Amino acid sequence: MSPSDATAGSTRLFSHVTAQAPGKVNLALAVGGPREDGYHPVASVYLSVSMLEEVTATPRGDGEVSVSLSDHSSVFVDPEAIPQDASNLAARAALLLREQLGLDPATHGVHLEITKQVPVAGGMGGGSADAAAALVACAALWDAGLSRQDLADLGADLGADVPFAVTGGAAVGLGVGDELTPLLARHPVHLVLVPATTGLSTPQVYALLDELRADGTLPAPEDEPAVDPELVQALTAGDPERLALLLHNDLQVPAAAMVPELSDMLDVGLEEGALAGQVSGSGPTVMFLARSAEESYQLAARIEDRTGVAAVAVHGPVHGARVL
Ligand code: ATP
Repeated sequence: MSPSDATAGSTRLFSHVTAQAPGKVNLALAVGGPREDGYHPVASVYLSVSMLEEVTATPRGDGEVSVSLSDHSSVFVDPEAIPQDASNLAARAALLLREQLGLDPATHGVHLEITKQVPVAGGMGGGSADAAAALVACAALWDAGLSRQDLADLGADLGADVPFAVTGGAAVGLGVGDELTPLLARHPVHLVLVPATTGLSTPQVYALLDELRADGTLPAPEDEPAVDPELVQALTAGDPERLALLLHNDLQVPAAAMVPELSDMLDVGLEEGALAGQVSGSGPTVMFLARSAEESYQLAARIEDRTGVAAVAVHGPVHGARVL
């Protein structure tokens, strides 16, 4: 925070605070049938990855909470697809925190500049990462005195993936994905991500899953979705070959039905030497597992050469939301 510190008498003020939060992939995602409230119970293994969102919070004395998108955002990010008003998840995070802290809404405004790397509606929780980064940046700006766990709990009100973007690392997520149990995954997982420029609506992918299950195209869901303990073991042991055999995503079939090119992309990655490939979350980002960092760079280059589509080598787990 130091470069942006300003001092006014004995009160220390920040001219701005920048925080980062990671996108995520689901190494496993088992989805149950819809509950009465419309939400689906899930059992997920989350991995935070080195594709990071950045939010710079600058105080506004007029009480407004505003959002803009930085020019340094990735080429995968279509500015038109991102609300730049109070419905943006980062703005909602700031408004929620301000209310929680009981700050005067007439004077405690903030401008949030978001630098997006995570593709929009890509199944990687990019909006949730923006919310997590905004929570952490505003908590520092407003001297909130809240713990990481407090911020994660607060984030759950904004979206199921927000608590994980606050905590980072690797975790099992139950409930709607917000009941997190951190995993001691010390070995890096190397992945190649192939983002798509157009997004997929998460609710529509879930709705198609329900439809395909109802008409018998897919088997009926388990009563209680569960995480495969063998996958957790492969992750914590740092065994990519075993992990490759255990990746699983119930949303892959509906996502690939909505975007048929996903199946072709999965084939390309496997032909080019990926250990395994899978749609990330609700898609359409596709992820491939590699044996090492070196192999992930080579795989990304081969996929790009062959398809002309950008592919990004990343690793996880990484830190949760934090001030730079
Ligand atoms: P999830 O799987 O958690 O739904 P996702 O990665 O598929 O996430 P996001 O990029 O988080 O999808 O965004 C989904 C939608 O949320 C977007 O289409 C957009 O309309 C809205 N949205 C609100 N705030 C943001 C934000 N800061 N960044 C991106 N999208 C946002």
